[in-house]
Amino acid sequence: MIKKSFFLLILFFIYISMLFSENLLVLRGNPSQGCLLFGEISDKVERIFLDYKKVPSDKQKFIIGFDRDEKLNHIITIVLKNGKMYSTNFKINRSSYDIQRIDNIPKKYVQKPKNVKLVKRIKNEAKLLNNARNRIAENTKLYISKIVKPVKGGRITGAFGSQRIINDNPESPHNGLDIAAPTGTTISAMANGLVRLIGDYFYNGKFVLLDHGSGLNSIYIHMSKICVSKWDYVVTGDKIGEIGSSGRSTGAHLHWGINKEDKRINPQLLLKNSDKVFLRIRK
Ligand SMILES: [Zn+2]
Repeated sequence: MIKKSFFLLILFFIYISMLFSENLLVLRGNPSQGCLLFGEISDKVERIFLDYKKVPSDKQKFIIGFDRDEKLNHIITIVLKNGKMYSTNFKINRSSYDIQRIDNIPKKYVQKPKNVKLVKRIKNEAKLLNNARNRIAENTKLYISKIVKPVKGGRITGAFGSQRIINDNPESPHNGLDIAAPTGTTISAMANGLVRLIGDYFYNGKFVLLDHGSGLNSIYIHMSKICVSKWDYVVTGDKIGEIGSSGRSTGAHLHWGINKEDKRINPQLLLKNSDKVFLRIRK
């Protein structure tokens, strides 16, 4: 009996201390390789550091991206306006990817384009896309709201992170999610953002690149039709194009890619539990 009331008393004190403690930082999302995490800080926080590197925030909100092959152990630190410092270690989950080995493929099927004009075009297009992403990385505003799947329905035909090893040569991993749907199906913006680049490229076909701020960008490729112009501001769910098979594509589908600066983000991880709190720093 005494034991039980002692236990209840302790619970009561924990409850009271939780009522009076304050959230200084909250992190939400799926803590895994390839994830995007959403953070909020109280107005007492002056600076945030992830693994000792400064993380920018906008109106007390910030985002963190972890790459496909990110290390698992991290440390998050906050410095308050009064100079106090708090740190917490956390671990993210390892993600598994589908690795496919294909051997004995005749050389002529795996050769890269050799035509000088075409090689020049491909190089130039990669440079334009890279430049646009670098400019997005300089944008410290954060437009992001909630994230939605850009296609209603559809069938997932290509997972993020999968990789093919052809005749012992590893190809670059699949940096996005493929969603197959009939040509003409609406493609919507995954979140609020600015249209930073549109084009019709050799590999991508017709595409739209959105800037969500804080280095976060999303790309929608192989479209049959682009429905926005450069510098348009779109909100979550706005129509930006239609499904197609333009560029290097073997059938009507959307390739949906997300990058946070140089980190490759898995879109599928954003479609479930991205609101779930997994870390708090309390005063
Ligand atoms: Zn794809």
